[in-house]
Amino acid sequence: MAIDATQRKAIAAGQTLTAKYKGTQYSVQVIAGEGGKLLYRLGDGREFKSPSSAGSAVMGGSACNGWRFWSIDDGAPRSAAKPAKPAAKPAAKQSAAKQPAKTERPRCDACGKTFVAAKQLEHHRANADRLCRPAA
Ligand SMILES: [Zn+2]
Repeated sequence: MAIDATQRKAIAAGQTLTAKYKGTQYSVQVIAGEGGKLLYRLGDGREFKSPSSAGSAVMGGSACNGWRFWSIDDGAPRSAAKPAKPAAKPAAKQSAAKQPAKTERPRCDACGKTFVAAKQLEHHRANADRLCRPAA
């Protein structure tokens, strides 16, 4: 959200310009300097004669077009200005896939024999006197 020519003319002391750079929100306060000239003061207290030099300072010295870099902070709550983000995708699917449920085979506690299906273990237990032979 750049500052257009009309907004640019209307900028006056007391306004705040904001910008988001590399994930961080920056703001610069427009203040009245000597001789009625405007100064642009960053949050860290540094003052610049133009939005471009203030923006350049934020960007670590890179050339900056301040009118494109900054936006006018109209005081509207940020949450209302932004469209609602879609809810984050639940991570449930991933964690469920990691569970090794399928690799767990039914196992007879008595003899340690494993079975492909639970029914086979049931059969094994039902006929334990014949099938189950625990190691002595
Ligand atoms: Zn058994």
